[in-house]
Amino acid sequence: MYLREKFSLRTSHRHRYHYHRCYQFTNNSRRNIIVTKTRVMNSTTRNNALTNNEGERIVNGSCYCGKCELTVIGKPIAVSICHCTICRRLSGGPFSIQSLHERAKFSCTVQANDLWSIQSSDNVQRFRCKECGSPLYATIGKAKTFVVARSCLKGIEKDDLDFRAQHHLHYSQRVIDIEDDLPKFVGTCAPGRSIPWTPEKSRVQ
Ligand SMILES: [Zn+2]
Ligand SMILES: [Zn+2]
Repeated sequence: MYLREKFSLRTSHRHRYHYHRCYQFTNNSRRNIIVTKTRVMNSTTRNNALTNNEGERIVNGSCYCGKCELTVIGKPIAVSICHCTICRRLSGGPFSIQSLHERAKFSCTVQANDLWSIQSSDNVQRFRCKECGSPLYATIGKAKTFVVARSCLKGIEKDDLDFRAQHHLHYSQRVIDIEDDLPKFVGTCAPGRSIPWTPEKSRVQ
């Protein structure tokens, strides 16, 4: 599924009838377009990644039951591993991995009003599928940034450079140690508020 402005047909008018069967508008004011995957793979595959006409990468995803489909366009703003107690309780895992995307680079086939949601902190609203309960995404602030659960994105290899985790957040709240070379922060990594984590600091917490 793509935002309407991110989709166009690269075919002569003569061939459009054929392509009409390959996409459809979603019912929410024609903002999103669903494209048959095989058709996109044939027409715009580059370096094994789906791209739009501007050459931006397209990554699709869905919840467990498939009712909610997500699309993110382009490289994420950031990719974080979060160890905070909220992420852990709401994901059911020892940490969560998520990628940040601008609002214009994110879309979901199910409207926010039709998803289960919870305001987990002052400026964070989390959304999940009402049918299967899969975590899908969260919004930060006035929904300018979308934080997408890595668990529901598809077709991303473990070592994918675009989606490789860049740091650990709230590492002082962790329940397991992660031995990698990524920067670790006591809490957030927001400019001006970030405190690098060190083993000594973890004992103070
Ligand atoms: Zn679902
Ligand atoms: Zn968290």
